[in-house]
Amino acid sequence: MKKALKLIVLVIMVIAVVPASAQDSNEIEKKYVKEVEKTVRHKRVVKAFEVIDSQDAQTVQNLITLTETPAPPFKEEERAQVFKEMLEAAGADKVWVDEIGNVLALRKGTEGNRNVVLDAHLDTVFPIETDVTVKEKGDTLLAPGIGDDTRGLSMVITVLKALNVADIKTKSDLIFIGTVGEEGLGDLRGVKHLFREDAEMKIDSWISIDGGSIGRVNSGALGSKRYRAVFKGRGGHSWGAFGLANPHHALGKAIDYFTLAASKYTSEGAKTSFNVGRIGGGTSVNSIPFESWMEVDMRSLSPERLLEIDSIFRASMEKAVEDYNASDVDDKVTLVLEKIGDRPSGRHPADMPLIQRAMAATDEFGIKPRLTTGSTNSNIPISLGIPAVTIGRGGRGGKGHSLEEWWLNQAGARAVKLAALVTLLEAGIAN
Ligand SMILES: [Zn+2]
Repeated sequence: MKKALKLIVLVIMVIAVVPASAQDSNEIEKKYVKEVEKTVRHKRVVKAFEVIDSQDAQTVQNLITLTETPAPPFKEEERAQVFKEMLEAAGADKVWVDEIGNVLALRKGTEGNRNVVLDAHLDTVFPIETDVTVKEKGDTLLAPGIGDDTRGLSMVITVLKALNVADIKTKSDLIFIGTVGEEGLGDLRGVKHLFREDAEMKIDSWISIDGGSIGRVNSGALGSKRYRAVFKGRGGHSWGAFGLANPHHALGKAIDYFTLAASKYTSEGAKTSFNVGRIGGGTSVNSIPFESWMEVDMRSLSPERLLEIDSIFRASMEKAVEDYNASDVDDKVTLVLEKIGDRPSGRHPADMPLIQRAMAATDEFGIKPRLTTGSTNSNIPISLGIPAVTIGRGGRGGKGHSLEEWWLNQAGARAVKLAALVTLLEAGIAN
C-alpha cells in the first residue's frame, strides 16, 4: 500500500471506532457548552455568584452550626428543625417537614409545571453520644459528619439565598430538600418516600450534593441488597442436649452453600459482589445456641445481576436449612430472613440533558468532569429513569464516616456556584 493510501485507511479506521453518540463517554455536546456559557454571562447569575462569594463565611458558619446539631440515623429531628429555620431565613414560598421527616422548601417558578430538586441528606452515621463539636486546626475543620453530608446542607441554604438576593426567577418550581435516612440502615428512606408511587408531588429532576470534591458527576447507581439471616433452635447443654439441632452448624452450612454458588456466579460477567459482614449469636462455649445470625451485603451495577445474586442467596439459605434438618439431628432449626437494605441499581446515559449540563457546568469552572457510580439518594430516581445526578460538596475533605472526618474550605464557593448553575440549567431562567 502506498503511504497516502495507508494514511487514508488509518483515518477511516479511527473514525469508525469513535462512538457516534456521547453515550458512555464524557464527551460534552456543543449545545450544552453554549447553554452554560450563556447562563454564566446572564447578569442575575453573575450577581448570584457574587452573593455566593460574599456568603462564603456564612456558609461555613451554617456548616458549623448544622454539624454541631447531631443527626444520628433515625434521629434527624433536631437538625431538621435547625435546617428548616435556615431555609425560612433564606426565603421560600413554603417550608415544611413531611411525614417521614424530610425538610422541603418550595421556591415557585413562573411556569411551575416541573419540579427541580436540590438535595443534601440530614443524617450522619454517628450515634447520639458522639462528640460533634467542630475543632479547627489551622484552616481545617474537624468533626464527624462535617463533609458527609453537612457541607451539602449548608450549600443548599446558600444556593437558595443567592437566587433570592439576585432575584432570579426560574421557569420550573425549585424544591430545596434535606432528606432523612440516606446512610446505612436508613436505606434511602427519605428519598424513597418522595418517589413513592402515590406521592402527591411529581419530581422531574433530582440534583443531590453528597460527598467528594468538585468534578464528581455521579450518573450511576450502585445497588445493593442486604439481609439479616437468623437461624433459630431450641438451645441446650452441649453435653446434656447433645444431638439437638444447632443453629451455628446450620449457619456454617449456609455460608458454605452461598459462597460456593455466589463465587461461581460472580467469577464472570459484570462485577457483582457479596459479603458476609457480621455473624453472631450463642451464649457460652458449652451451650448449643438458640440463635445464630449473620448480615450479608450484595452489590451490582446491573439490576438483573443484583436480582440473580439475591436469589442465589435466598436459595442457598433455604437449601442449607433443609439439608441440615434432614441430617441426623434432633428437632429442627428455622430461618428468619429480614431484608435490611434494598438500594436499586441503574445508570443514566451520558447524553441525558441533566448529565450533559452537569458535565458542561463542571468544565466551565475549569474542572474535568468525572462520571462516577455510587450509592446515594440519586439511586432511587436513576432506577426509575428520572433525571438525577449527584455532585460533590467541594473544598477538600477526607476520613468520611470516621471520628477524624475533616473538611477544608479550599475554593469551596466554586462548588456552591456549580450546584446553583446546574439547578438553574435544569429549571430554566425566566427573567
Ligand atoms: Zn452522604
